Amino acid sequence: MQSIFKKNLEKLSAYQPGPSTDEIKKMYGLEKVVKLDSNENVYGASPNVQKAIIEDALFPELYPDCRNSDLRDELSKRLCVHSDRFLFGAGLDEIIVLISRAFLDASSSIVMAWPTFYEYYCHAQIEGAATKKIPCTPDGKHDLQAMLRAIDGTTKVVWICNPNNPTGTYLTKDELDAFIEAVPKNVLIVIDEAYIDFVTAKDFPNGLNYLNAFENVLVLRTFSKAYGLASFRIGYAIGSLRIIDEINKVRPPFNNPRLSQVAALAALRDDAFKKDCINKNRKVLAETAIFLRKKGIQFFDSQANFIYIKTDHPEQVALYCRKHGFLINSFQDGVRVTIGKSEDMKRFLPILEKTLLDRVTESSI
Ligand SMILES: *Cc1c(COP(=O)(O)O)cnc(C)c1O
Repeated sequence: MQSIFKKNLEKLSAYQPGPSTDEIKKMYGLEKVVKLDSNENVYGASPNVQKAIIEDALFPELYPDCRNSDLRDELSKRLCVHSDRFLFGAGLDEIIVLISRAFLDASSSIVMAWPTFYEYYCHAQIEGAATKKIPCTPDGKHDLQAMLRAIDGTTKVVWICNPNNPTGTYLTKDELDAFIEAVPKNVLIVIDEAYIDFVTAKDFPNGLNYLNAFENVLVLRTFSKAYGLASFRIGYAIGSLRIIDEINKVRPPFNNPRLSQVAALAALRDDAFKKDCINKNRKVLAETAIFLRKKGIQFFDSQANFIYIKTDHPEQVALYCRKHGFLINSFQDGVRVTIGKSEDMKRFLPILEKTLLDRVTESSI
C-alpha cells in the first residue's frame, strides 16, 4: 500500500528545542540562567520598539500590508537599493524555505559549507535536492575552491554564510570577488549576512556591491541579531527583479505581521542603539579572545556576536556550562558561545576554562 509519508522527509527529524530556561533553573536549582546559545542581542532591542508597538496595537482584525511598504521604503533609502528589489519574510528562516521551494527539486543540488547554518541543508532535503556539504578549511572558513569544484550541471543554489555561523570567520572581498566571478551565471549565489552589523574587518565584502553586476546574487539580512527582534520574525532578501519575482511566487502574501513591520521600522531608525550594542559586543569579544588566548584555548577569530571554541568533548562542555547556568551550543569539534554582557562573561569564562582544560564534566562533579 502506498505510504502517506514523503520519501524526502524520512531521514529528517523535527527541530528539537532544549529545555526552557525555567526548566533548567528547576533542574539544577539555579536562580539565573544566561542564554548564550542563540546569538540573540543580549542588550535587548531599542526602547523605541516598545513605544511603536503600543502606539500601533490597533486593528488586530486587519491583514497586514503585504508589501511591507514603510519598512521597504526606509530600507531602500538607507541602502540605496530600488524598493522592488526587496523581499520580506518571517525571519531568514522563512526566506531560506522560500528560496528552497522556488528553485530546488529532486533533479537539482545545492553546494554549501560545513559546518554552517543548518537550515540550508534541511530545506534542500525537504525539496528532494542533493546536498553537497563542503568541509570548512582548518581555520574555519568556507573552502571556496572545493565549493567551486563541487558545482555541476545540477547545482541551482550555492549558500555562502558571511560571517559564517557557527565559526564566526569571514571571507574577504578578494576571496568572494573571485568566487562570484567563477560561479556559472545560471547558479544562484545566496550570501547570508545575518551578522554583517557586527563586522569590523576592513576587507569584508558588502554583498550589496555585487547586485548590479551579478543578477544571480541574492543577499540576506535579518532583524533578529543586531536589532534584537528575534521574537518578531522578520528578515529580508535583496536581489535582481527576476530572482525576487520568482521567490514572490511562493511567498505567502501576509507573512509579516503588522507589529513586526512596525517593530522593525522603529529598530531600524534607532541608529544610536544599534551602534551601542555593536560597540559593547566588540569590546567583550576582544576581552573574551584575550582570556582564551592567555589560557591557550583554541578558537576562531570572530567577526560576529559569538565565538567558536575548539574542544574534543563539546557535548560534555555544553552540559557542564548548562549545569552552571550558561546555555551554549555544541557542534562536532567545538562549542559556539554568544558573546554575553561583560558581567556575565566574567562569570562564565572561568567555568568554561574549568570544563575545557581540567576536563571537569557534569558526571564527574
Ligand atoms: C540566526 C540566523 C538566521 C535566521 O535568522 P532569523 O531569525 O530567521 O531571521 C539566518 N542565518 C544565519 C546564519 C543565522 O545565524
